[in-house]
This record gives sequence, C-alpha cells and structure tokens, in this order.
Amino acid sequence: MKYCSTRGGVSGLSFVDSLLIGLAPDGGLLVPEQLPDVGADISRWRGLNFVQFAQEIIPLFATDIAPAILKELIVKSYENFEHEDVVGWQQLGDITVMELFHGPTLAFKDIALQFLGRLFEYALALNNQHLNILGATSGDTGSAAIAGVCGQSNVDIFILYPDNRVSPLQELQMTTVPDENVHCLAIDGSFDDCQSLMKEVFADLDFKRELNLGAVNSVNWARILAQVVYYGYASLKYEEAVSFCVPTGNFGNVFAAYLARQMGFPIEKLLVATNENDILARFIDTGEYSRGEVHQTLSPAMDIQVASNFERYLYYHFGKDTDKLCAFMEQFQTGGSAQISPPEGDFMATAVDTKQTLDAVRKAYRDYGYVLDPHTAVSYAACGYFRDIVEGPLICVATAHPAKFPDAVHSAVPQAPAQHPALDALIGLPQRKTVIEPTVEAVKNYLRTASSR
Ligand SMILES: *Cc1c(COP(=O)(O)O)cnc(C)c1O
Repeated sequence: MKYCSTRGGVSGLSFVDSLLIGLAPDGGLLVPEQLPDVGADISRWRGLNFVQFAQEIIPLFATDIAPAILKELIVKSYENFEHEDVVGWQQLGDITVMELFHGPTLAFKDIALQFLGRLFEYALALNNQHLNILGATSGDTGSAAIAGVCGQSNVDIFILYPDNRVSPLQELQMTTVPDENVHCLAIDGSFDDCQSLMKEVFADLDFKRELNLGAVNSVNWARILAQVVYYGYASLKYEEAVSFCVPTGNFGNVFAAYLARQMGFPIEKLLVATNENDILARFIDTGEYSRGEVHQTLSPAMDIQVASNFERYLYYHFGKDTDKLCAFMEQFQTGGSAQISPPEGDFMATAVDTKQTLDAVRKAYRDYGYVLDPHTAVSYAACGYFRDIVEGPLICVATAHPAKFPDAVHSAVPQAPAQHPALDALIGLPQRKTVIEPTVEAVKNYLRTASSR
C-alpha cells in the first residue's frame, strides 16, 4: 500500500515513510492511494477479539512491515489496557456506549498513540534514527502521546501546553512521568499560542531537518488507521448495519468511521456531535465551511474551529481531485470560508450546548447510574436527538473516563463518582516542567539544548 498527499504533490510513499513524515511537504495530509475492500472478509472476521481483529486490518495498510513483526507490535500496543478486550461496552436503554478510554491515560487517544509509539520504536531502530517529537496539547493529546513513547531511547518528546490552563489532573499526567526523554514545556500563553508556535517551528524546514522533527497530532495517518479498527470491530458485533455518534473536534475520530464505511464495513449513519464550536455541524447542514471564534466549553478537547482532518474527507468528497481540493483550501485560507454542496448522505450533525451536555450527564446517571465524561455527554445528548431518526443499533462513542473531568461531572451531579486509581496515584508525585516564553526562538533553543540526539 502506497500513500499520497491530498494536495497532489507527493505519491508513492511507504507506510513507514508516511509515519515518519507526518504532514506532507506540500502542506497536504497523507492518505492511502486506494482503500482495501473488506466485503468478502467480513464473515470470516466475526468472532475475533479486538487484538486479533486489529491484526487483520492494520496489515492491509502497513504492507512494508513484516506481518509477524506487525502482529507483535499490535499485541504490545494493547497490553497496557485495563479492559480485557481493549474496548468496553455498556447498554443504556436503546443506546450502546462504546468505551474507548481504557488505556493508560484514560482517553480514546491512547488507542492510536500507544500503537504509534510502538511503530516509532520499530521504525527508528530499523533505520538507526533519532526523532524529536513536537506536539501541542490542550489536555488529552499530550499525556497520551507521552505515554506512547516515554522511556524510548530513540525519541525525545516535547509537549507545549498553556501554563495554568490545562486541568491540574491533565498537567500531572504529563509532568509526573519520570523518563528523561519527556519534556513538558509550559507556555506563558493560550492553547492557540502553543499550536501556532508548533506550526511555526515545523514550517522552518531547515530546523525540521536539523532536529529530525516528527508529529503526533492527528494529521499522522497511523493514528487514523488505529481508529478505523474499532469502528470495523464494533460494526461486526451486530447482524444489522450500525450507526455511530461521535463527539468531534478535529474530525479525526469520525473520519476514521467514514473510512471504515468506505471499506465496506456494515455502517449505516455517521452522526457528528459538536459542542458550541459548531463549524462541522454547520458545514454538514449547509456545505459552508467557515472559521468562527473558539468558545471555551465543558468539553475542551473539542474546542476547535479548524478541523485538520477535514481535509482528508474533502479529498474523497472531491473524488480525489487534488486541484479542486487545493482550490477549496486556498479559498478557505484567504477568505476564512469556502462552500460546497451539502455533503448529504455521508454524515448528519448536531451541535450540543452546555445545558444539554449537563442534562445528558444527569439523565444517564439518573436512568442507568452511569457516569459520562463531558465529551461523551455531548455525544449522548446528540444520540437522544438522533435516536428517532436512525434505524438499527446506535453506538455512542465514549472518548474519556469521567475521572479526567471531575469538575464538569460534579457540576451536573455532585454525588456522581468520578475517580480512578491511576489518577489518584499521581497526586503528590514529583513534577518536572519548564516554563518558557511564547516565542519561536525560545522553543527552538530549548529543543536544540535538551534533545539527547
Ligand atoms: C481529542 C478528543 C476528542 C475529539 O477527537 P477528534 O479526533 O479531534 O474529533 C473528543 N473527546 C476527547 C475526550 C478527546 O480527548
């Protein structure tokens, strides 16, 4: 399987190359040149467990890694999950919750980032390379990325986060990791500042080459691939085609569901649930993609107005016509908005506000004694809206454990349990972080001096 850029400037890359490159040099995102059609294999795969199923899907895309090695990397990726089958299931009336948060940092990002960590370890050892990973986080990505690569001798990881603006627990999940290859950089600024600093550092191609910089954000194709697995897996648990409702920020998670459907898994509807940052809900209803202001909500991992993975969807929407895609992106960059015909049939969407989010937490607790984190609550609220419209099984995608967001949970239901021993164990541990100025020079200087390369 070869990979190409959504903007047409790069093609013929191997899986391992696309893993190490992250973003394509023409500014596009990497996508597989064709999607495998799994229609004929589905009946054979029913009844496999999660890891066995992943061992069938991932090799279709990672054809340049020997199958036996890949199988072992997959086993290692999921051995730290506390659920025996990686993913957990809960039935709340006629809605099924798919729990993706049983990994080491208690958010769904572990499913992809544990795998990415094992892939980096393998690919870097193979080429005898050292990689400096630079990422920015508003909370969940940073700890999951760190947990994926901590302790690896061929990697240093640098995570930028806004000082005093991530939750205390999220900060502890990053700063208490003792491994020397982990560098937590608290920026005196906002999350947007962190993200633009990261983009500027990556845009300096000489510096990128000098330090061999790599990315772990959801532009990395391997993350999307790991996420395709659980959608395919879930769809085979039922006789009828299923629908998924996905709480969405960067569009990465729901895009993986879209790919699973394109590959032929029996998936009916893809329901997109946003918070007040509703750029994607508006796009799906009207076809207009336009930048808005970012609102702070109870579901901070979804407080995003420009969804980077959206470009991958547009690539398929335009029938892989890279010229059309480039024109769309150009128009969006310069004018702040761009328009296509509404993408009916692919997705349905709804935006959920703070009151509806809190009501969803209350309702699940009252009716089933089940505690939702605020991101999953956005999805659960949207499920209530879609349940009458959608036929067949409806799966609510649960992206974080409630213990990661106790304040939001308790503002809905003060007595709801929102604790986890893995988080309790962090309190009082020694922390390591460096506060740095919000300038590109400060970030670059830090990387140069601290990298163990
Ligand atoms: C990252 C994150 C999301 C959003 O996922 P996208 O792939 O950006 O759509 C939702 N919920 C939680 C808990 C997250 O950490």
